Amino acid sequence: MSESCVFCRIIAGEIPGDFVHRDEEIVAFRDINPVASTHILLVPRDHIESVQSLLPEQADLVGRMVLRARELAEQEGIADRGYRLVVNCGSEGGQIVPHLHMHLIGGRKLDDRIG
Ligand code: 5GP
Ligand code: ZN
Repeated sequence: MSESCVFCRIIAGEIPGDFVHRDEEIVAFRDINPVASTHILLVPRDHIESVQSLLPEQADLVGRMVLRARELAEQEGIADRGYRLVVNCGSEGGQIVPHLHMHLIGGRKLDDRIG
């Protein structure tokens, strides 16, 4: 864990989080500043900085994050209408928190154009 990392601190229980999922590998909690009625962050417990620091052996973790996001979309009742999964990487990619995470966003019609 990184003491200076807000997501590590949420995972450790030092900062409150509105959790919708927790397992030994991945947690999910609601974004503090949601852009749609469903805005959930899926976060690995391990402090991986970004896609840029992912190792080949962590590919399965990313796959499980996607499948968990699909399950949460179903729980949220947005799976049939559609949703967006976003992973920002680095400063020009819009990554603010340097701990790998996937946004699950839905509940309204999102812009057709990304970026
Ligand atoms: P990024 O821009 O790094 O992809 O996304 C970071 C996200 O984390 C933002 O959508 C932001 O609103 C969210 N966020 C930042 N700090 C906190 C926090 O303390 N709690 C929660 N739940 N979300 C946070
Ligand atoms: Zn972290």
